[in-house]
This record gives sequence, C-alpha cells and structure tokens, in this order.
Amino acid sequence: MSELKDPYRCDLVPFIPGIKSCPFCGQLPDSTDCDFCYPVITRKNGTKIYRAGCIELAGGCGAEVLGDSVDDAVQRWNTRVR
Ligand SMILES: [Zn+2]
Repeated sequence: MSELKDPYRCDLVPFIPGIKSCPFCGQLPDSTDCDFCYPVITRKNGTKIYRAGCIELAGGCGAEVLGDSVDDAVQRWNTRVR
C-alpha cells in the first residue's frame, strides 16, 4: 500500500493556482482551504464526486460545482458561467 491518502485530509487539496473568484459574490476562494474542494459523494464503484466552490465559512455565498476529481471540479469552477 502506497500513496493511499485519506480523502478527508486537507492535504488532498494543495495550493491550486489560477482559481477564479466566485461569479455570484466575487469572493476568491482559498484553494488551500479544506472547504474549497472536497469529496461529497462516493459512488457504488468507489469513485468519488468532488465539490469545488465558494466558501460560506469564509464569507462566501456557497455556490458550488461538482466534478469527477479535484482537478475536474476545479476546472468546472473556473469555467462555469453565471
Ligand atoms: Zn460566492
């Protein structure tokens, strides 16, 4: 067993460059914040659905997008249209 990471640990999401600010409230999410991107659902086959979005706890509006991976969720966040 190697490189098996606990998906709920904050270090799953290291600093991600190029995060765009929220199209709804304008808040720029802190990509190193655990609340920016984390797995929300585990499918029956074991794969996870990740959420990326505005951080309510940091004063944002909570808008979010879902993706198949951290990268996918972040990319969807960056390309979302209002
Ligand atoms: Zn927002």
